Amino acid sequence: MNVHLPESVDEAVGLLGAGVLLAGGTSVMPHVGPTTSLVSLRRVGLTGIERDGDTLTIGAATTLARVGREVPFLHDAIESIASPTIRNLATIGGNLFARQPHGDLAVCLLALDATVSIIDADGAREVGVLEAEGLVTSISFKEPERWFYTKAMRRRQNSASIVTVASDGARIALGGVAPRPVRATAAEAALAEGDIAKAAELSVEAADPFDDAYASAWYRRRVLPVHVRRALTEE
Ligand SMILES: Cc1cc2nc3c(=O)[nH]c(=O)nc-3n(C[C@H](O)[C@H](O)[C@H](O)COP(=O)(O)OP(=O)(O)OC[C@H]3O[C@@H](n4cnc5c(N)ncnc54)[C@H](O)[C@@H]3O)c2cc1C
Repeated sequence: MNVHLPESVDEAVGLLGAGVLLAGGTSVMPHVGPTTSLVSLRRVGLTGIERDGDTLTIGAATTLARVGREVPFLHDAIESIASPTIRNLATIGGNLFARQPHGDLAVCLLALDATVSIIDADGAREVGVLEAEGLVTSISFKEPERWFYTKAMRRRQNSASIVTVASDGARIALGGVAPRPVRATAAEAALAEGDIAKAAELSVEAADPFDDAYASAWYRRRVLPVHVRRALTEE
């Protein structure tokens, strides 16, 4: 195994393509083999949480545990992810690339319409949550006035999502019900008219569910409206 340890963002960008980017390692490390090359972000910085009015900017290598401590409205979402041990290692940047049914924070960031700052061979730019590539340096979003989050899972710790719902009362993002986090746009239109029951019913239009060890695709589709309604009514 070959590990690059860049000490700056510029150095890390220069090493893109020389190996797999490694942040907390909670997703990467189980797949590492003797011939794997890694580019560790450990010494690059990219940690911290800054506030500018109601806008938060979080460094990509900030741990989930720290986000949960310092961003109160995301506390419950963070607590629904994995276990304290994993949350102390796992980063917000890494969560953007977690494969569903993981990636609960990415679902929240999609509901928040977060902006992802990236750098790659084409330079630095800002993209949406689902367009993240290259080196993610930070993630910014406005703190919402209202926030709804629910995650259906089998047990309290280390259980991936069956259905995750995040909403700021206007946007609705779903996890666990498609290969990537998705916006439930038909449901959002119904919610804009104040019809939560219809929003719940229409949420299935965004779903493209899969079978896994936690639940079948059939079950995910079946319970999705229930969890959307529960999330939006805070039942
Ligand atoms: C037992 C267990 C349970 C889990 N349960 C949940 C859960 O319930 N909910 C949930 O959301 N997640 C869950 N996860 C997944 C975990 O939370 C995410 O994988 C974590 O956020 C990834 O962050 P990391 O820093 O460890 O990423 P790493 O493992 O270091 O990297 C993951 C991917 O992201 C890329 N990457 C990392 N940082 C950057 C960056 N700055 N720029 C570009 N690419 C980058 C890496 O190259 C890699 O492809 C679980 C993981 C485990 C092991």
